Amino acid sequence: MRITPLLFCLPLVALTGCLKFKSTGPTPTPGPTPAPKPPTFDLTKVQPDELGKIPVIMYHDIGKSGKNTPLDRTVASFEKDLELLYEKGFYPVTAADIVANRLDVPLGKTPVALTFDDARKTQFGLIQTDQGPQVDPNCALGVMERFVKAHPDWKVSATFFVLPKSKVTNESFGQTGMGKDKIAYLLKNGCEIANHSTLHKSFADYTAAQIQEEIGGADKLVTDLNPEVKLETFALPMGKYPRNKALWPLLLKGTYNGHSYSYKAAFDAAWRPIPSPASVKFNPLRLERINSIDGLNGIRYWVEKLTAPGGGRYISDGDPSWVSFPKAKEAELARERVEKQGKQLNAYESQGIQGAGGKPIVPASK
Ligand SMILES: [Zn+2]
Repeated sequence: MRITPLLFCLPLVALTGCLKFKSTGPTPTPGPTPAPKPPTFDLTKVQPDELGKIPVIMYHDIGKSGKNTPLDRTVASFEKDLELLYEKGFYPVTAADIVANRLDVPLGKTPVALTFDDARKTQFGLIQTDQGPQVDPNCALGVMERFVKAHPDWKVSATFFVLPKSKVTNESFGQTGMGKDKIAYLLKNGCEIANHSTLHKSFADYTAAQIQEEIGGADKLVTDLNPEVKLETFALPMGKYPRNKALWPLLLKGTYNGHSYSYKAAFDAAWRPIPSPASVKFNPLRLERINSIDGLNGIRYWVEKLTAPGGGRYISDGDPSWVSFPKAKEAELARERVEKQGKQLNAYESQGIQGAGGKPIVPASK
């Protein structure tokens, strides 16, 4: 079956390339290998902070009941969410991009991950047309594709915490026989397929064996369906963590029936932005998400808080190989982790500099 997309994603390079400022950085140190140049930016216009906070938004159904509830967002409200994030300078990435610190985000923008739980049909529905199956324009994916068509400096990038076809789930995304094609389509179109367990039950009282069966079993079902899927993140059903904290490492690494899994992070169900992956506050075992609701602790509440003066949001330097931040925040840097990721560090003086480029303090060793 061939799914006709409503549009194709623009290559990211084309998007970020045109937004970069002309480099006026310091001259390279003499020697056979010049030091890498830090990204440069006009501090009177943008003050990158790649140690800042990042919102991860959690959705369930889109437009199922026509009402806004904690598990269902109307199409109109979802469209308004995208509009708000776009206008306030956010840029979509996947949850895996965040936790792996693979943040290729244009200068001055803040990453945001849109995440969808349970592989519900209203997230990715297919409709039959004379031209073959097409993405339902009113499902979450259809809305995002339409939005990006109207805002070509954005892209379709989202995380789907799927329930695979299993004893309790007829099919991922609720249309029998179409789960495989949908997962392949999402993968090809800039989205992340992530793990949400097999049976979607509370992990609170699970044993070590049960945890590995639930996560490893789901991992096997998804990767058997599509061996190109590389699962990197997990979201706990209903946000219910094992009561026994000693078992938490099994949320990231384990083996079930000879099938091993190894993830970078586990996500909770609520309620606030997460620390940057370059921050010492980042805990890959407990990353919260913001529910797509109105009012207290909802999406609009946090977007306003983060974008207010001193809101502490992550602001990109436009160059994924560098981590830029005001020198005053240096104590928050998870130096060892970031250096292991091969990133260069760019701490800059944020006071008294008018239009100067960033000033590197420690080029990370390879
Ligand atoms: Zn769920």
